[in-house]
Formats: sequence, structure tokens, C-alpha cells
Amino acid sequence: MIPTATVILKSGRDKSVRQRHPRLFSGGIKEIAGKPRDGDVVDVADNHGEWLARGIINQQAQCAVRLMTWDKDETIDDALWQRRIAQAVARRNADPLLRTSNARRVVFGESDGLPGVVVDDYAGHLVLQISTLAAFRARQAVIDGLVIALQPHSISERSDEERAKHEAIKAFVGVVHGTAPDGAIDIHEHGFTFAVRPGGGQKTGFYCDQRMNRLALERYVQPGGSVLNAFSYTGGFGLYAARAGAARIVNTDISADALAQARENFVRNNLSLEGVEFACADAFDDLRTRRKAGEQFDVVILDPPKFASSPAHIDRAARAYKDLSRVGFSLLKPGGVLATFSCSGVIDPSLFQQIVFAAAVEANRDAQIVEKLSQASDHPILLTFPESEYLKGLVCRMM
Ligand code: SAH
Repeated sequence: MIPTATVILKSGRDKSVRQRHPRLFSGGIKEIAGKPRDGDVVDVADNHGEWLARGIINQQAQCAVRLMTWDKDETIDDALWQRRIAQAVARRNADPLLRTSNARRVVFGESDGLPGVVVDDYAGHLVLQISTLAAFRARQAVIDGLVIALQPHSISERSDEERAKHEAIKAFVGVVHGTAPDGAIDIHEHGFTFAVRPGGGQKTGFYCDQRMNRLALERYVQPGGSVLNAFSYTGGFGLYAARAGAARIVNTDISADALAQARENFVRNNLSLEGVEFACADAFDDLRTRRKAGEQFDVVILDPPKFASSPAHIDRAARAYKDLSRVGFSLLKPGGVLATFSCSGVIDPSLFQQIVFAAAVEANRDAQIVEKLSQASDHPILLTFPESEYLKGLVCRMM
């Protein structure tokens, strides 16, 4: 598509574009030469008129231009979207860290040069999320590109209402290619089998981003030990704890469905249910109740959902993370290990560490960070887009 306009930046606002940050916010724009319609390809120039980048405009969104190329000769068209999908898939196929699972994120938005496109692959059944007007316009090309690159059994679209609203696009939920499975399918991860409903369940069915962290935490569990797996979803960390020989595993979640699936996942992996509990409760209440009852664990895992989706929610989210980690610390035996996570992108790693520090102080516990965890490699962090580092985990050992 030929650019229909040039977005001219205010003086001094060109740095992030030159540094290849993929988002351009309206505050940095001085004027627009031309009359682009939302969804059009536009060029971006500095205030002296020097060409900097090219992207897709949406003046109804907070992020006015989604930048897609810094090469003046590169055209933004269907072929570009498809080329980038093929490249994203090729990167996953070449990634040695992904050989141990057949559930993976094959496209991770801007980290793969595809703003607004997220695709998860569950054993050949794909789940597509579209969250920008740019991607929405290229939707059919994206679907065709996925079919060419992966020959999937099915593609289900499951775009998020809330995010779609921000971009003034229509969210769609349904099957867009092939035949989606009726119920759950099996995926494999590090020797385990998990039931996943592609396009069902929460998010897109399975939290692939925690894949390596589940393996990492298995090493902290001693035979005969006790583990509190809060926000367990379909078992995740709990199954790994069982494999490590834990004698007591408490899985808690607010979703009864997730816990029912968790129980089934223990059974289908031939893990004994002796000493394994499934508690349906709000974690904030449940953790406090356990503390009051004097319960103690060798390992406490806290993997809550996203508490902050925009900077406006940072303070409230920080309090919630602190609250959880504080109770988490207080539930540990001496020498025990707390693994506390945040998947809120707006809470950066240093802020998260400060929050956990404050939690330890309030819990009156001395602790050491023994390991820092992040998202798995199929959710790559783009260097020019630090916001793509969203998952942080601190493994803290009580002194
Ligand atoms: N650790 C899991 C993923 C956790 S996802 C894994 O490895 O697969 C977050 C989970 O938190 C979801 O299952 C959701 O149902 C649960 N949840 C959300 N709010 C909650 C609350 N207030 N109390 C308890 N669980 C909650």
C-alpha cells in the first residue's frame, strides 16, 4: 500500500522512532501532511522532514501509529505481513528451547514485527488474537500466512473485546479455518500431558510463557516437601511439584473449572492424588486464612493474573502484589522458597523487585533473591521495545 500521508514529529520527539520503538503516540506528533484514513499506511518524518519510518495510522487509538519498517524501500502490504509470519514461525522452529513442547506462541506481536497479532499453537490448533486496526486490516493475509507457514488443523480467532475497543475495531470469536476440536486436546510439555481447549479456557487456553519457570521451580521442591501453588489454573506448577516428590501440594484458584481440569491433569499424568488438595477460593482470603491457621510450606508459588493493564492501575496493582507476597513470605518455613510473579507489562522488573522488597520488610522476613525468572523464548523480548518484557518472577529464599 502506498503511504497516503506523512506524520511529522515535534522537535525532539524523534528519538524513540530512530531507536525503532514500534509505537508512536499522538503526543509526539506536530502535524500530519495529507488526510489519511485510519488504517492507512503513513510515513513518519522528523520536524525537518527527514524520513524516519513507516507504519499504520489509527487516530482513534492512543498509539497513533504502529511502526512496521525503518527501511524506506520496504512496502507495507499483505506480503510483508505474510513474510513476517513465516519468519516468526521459522524462528520458533529453530529455537532449541522449544523442542520440549508442542504448545507455543508462534507470533508475539511487536516482538515479531507484527503489531496486534498474537498466535498460539496447541498441537496444530491455532488461536489467533487481533488487537490493532493495523492487524485487523491485514486479517485475511495473516490467516492465509498462518495456513501457508504451519498447515494447521484449525485456526480459532479469539480477539479480546476490551483491547478491540481501544482501537475501535470489532472483536471476533469463532473458527476461521479448518475444524476446531470439540473439547480438549492434549499438549505435551517437558514430559507432561495437559488438556487444553484451544480458544476456550482463560486467555488462550494454556500459559506457555511459564513453561521454563515450571521446570525451574521443580528443582526447588524436595521429596517429601510441601508446596502451595496459588493461582494454579489447570495444575501447572503443581504437576511439576508432584514429579519432584512433594508430599503435600495445595492448588488454589478462584475458578472451579480450572481446578477440575487440574485434578484431571494430575490423573492423566499418573500422579498420585494423595496429599494433593484443590481449593476453590479467592487467593487473597485463602492465603490469609492459611496464615492464621499456622500453615507453613517449603515452597510458595504466586502466579496471579494481570493486575494492571495501563499505567493508571500501577499503584493499585503494586499494592495487590505487595499484599500477596507479604502473606506468601509469612507462609514459608525457615529456608523455604517464595516464587512470586507479575505478568503486568506496566510494572517493570525493578519496580516489581521494590514491591517484593517492601513485602518482605512488612512480613518482617529476611530473604535473598536466588533466581530471577522471565517469560519463555516463544514470547521474545524485543530490545527496542522494553515493554515486551512483561513476565517477572523472583525466587526468594528465606534466611
Ligand atoms: N500458574 C498457572 C497460570 C495461572 S493464571 C499455570 O502455570 O498454568 C492465573 C489464574 O489465577 C487463573 O487460573 C485464574 O482463575 C486465577 N485467579 C484470578 N483471580 C484470582 C483470585 N482472586 N484468587 C484466586 N485465583 C484467581
